Amino acid sequence: MKKSDLHDEVKKMRSLLETSCRMIWEHPEDGGNEKMSADYFRKILGDEGFKIVNEEHLEHAFYAEYGSGKPVIAILGEYDALPGLSQKVADSKAPVEEGAPGHGCGHNLLGSAAAVGAIAVKRYLEAKKISGTVRFYGCPEEELLSGKVKMIYYHMFDGCDFAISWHPMCANMVYDSGYLASASAHFQFKGRSSHAAFAPELGRSALDAVELMNVGVNYLREHVTSKARIHYTTDSGGFAPNIVPPFSGSWYFVRAPYIADVKEILERIRKVAEGAALMTETTVEMKIDYGCCEMLENHAYGDLAYQNMKEVKLPVFDDDETAFAQRLVDTVAKEDARRAQKLYDTESPMVWKLNERNLYQANPLTASSDSGDVSHMMPMCVVSTACWPAGVAPHTWQATAASGCSLGEKGALSAAQIIAGIAYDLYNDPGKRETILEEFREKKDEYAPMYEA
Ligand SMILES: [Zn+2]
Ligand SMILES: [Zn+2]
Repeated sequence: MKKSDLHDEVKKMRSLLETSCRMIWEHPEDGGNEKMSADYFRKILGDEGFKIVNEEHLEHAFYAEYGSGKPVIAILGEYDALPGLSQKVADSKAPVEEGAPGHGCGHNLLGSAAAVGAIAVKRYLEAKKISGTVRFYGCPEEELLSGKVKMIYYHMFDGCDFAISWHPMCANMVYDSGYLASASAHFQFKGRSSHAAFAPELGRSALDAVELMNVGVNYLREHVTSKARIHYTTDSGGFAPNIVPPFSGSWYFVRAPYIADVKEILERIRKVAEGAALMTETTVEMKIDYGCCEMLENHAYGDLAYQNMKEVKLPVFDDDETAFAQRLVDTVAKEDARRAQKLYDTESPMVWKLNERNLYQANPLTASSDSGDVSHMMPMCVVSTACWPAGVAPHTWQATAASGCSLGEKGALSAAQIIAGIAYDLYNDPGKRETILEEFREKKDEYAPMYEA
């Protein structure tokens, strides 16, 4: 079985892939609630002869394993949707159900292509009877940036040698760096309630503390690494203006290039919160929900992934698909569309060609993913394929629309072929494996998941 036969094997599974993409898209479940989606993937992989391994503490996480011996390759799947992004396959905003979740990050495509890629690899191992194991990882809660961190905490990735991941995007790319480290923390202030006019001197406002804290953090911004991102919301601002708010809270996300920066900034935010509590005679408690790491670069692995992207025939979109893609682009701001077309060097709404790798080194990816933690456990590569028109950003209704039709599904098919091709090379080229592992060992630092049960 040559690599091209493996690509053909994936193509033969087109209908399984499309059914899976649509099934998950039609039943969007947001982070923490992915019951149907996880069970669906357990079923298709179980039916194919994979052994399903669950973890009692994480209901919607599992891995499906086939084969024996080394190397053990982990193919990462995700399937959570985003709150409020319900959308039909339409060129104007039209939720299937108002306020319901939707696949605006294309994780219906992500999980399905990863599963189909894993099945193709399993069939290859079966036919060749070589030493090697493939695991599909069903990873929940990616959008909460917590699922894989918890899975690592519960040792679900132990024994793996390499990880392969992909993400739907609006261009065909390899990221061998990217993903900011990130953490989420809640600050809960407690004060004292009182009549705001009759006895204001008896009240201590927790809302005042939250406001002062946010002002303090906004001053702090000037004095942290310029690549950091700090964003917050306010949990609760009290009941009515004539009652001094006895409790209030804020929820912060902190992102920075390295997890050490994130931890340091969080520590400084804690001091600002304590200062706000001191000023208002309230108390504050900080609770860190989780933290996830930056992605550990591996150029040797990135090269291998890029090579595999070049070996796969990229999808061709017909006139109807191109016209629909253009109508979606027409709904985004003209400047955004122009910027994307310039970035991806294209005039067509769907980016056909393969972009030079390292695109994101010049334009650092400012998002985060809990996959970053996996890259500290073992070498990990990330590819993206064009599933959305250029100018359509993740986490938008336009991305939900594109993920629910053939635009996304064609990109997913290419992704499954690329995944299978990368695994093929890892099984067959011990020299390449060693080069990748050597780079990993050189760069690897101490790692402990930033999560406590
Ligand atoms: Zn997302
Ligand atoms: Zn995503």
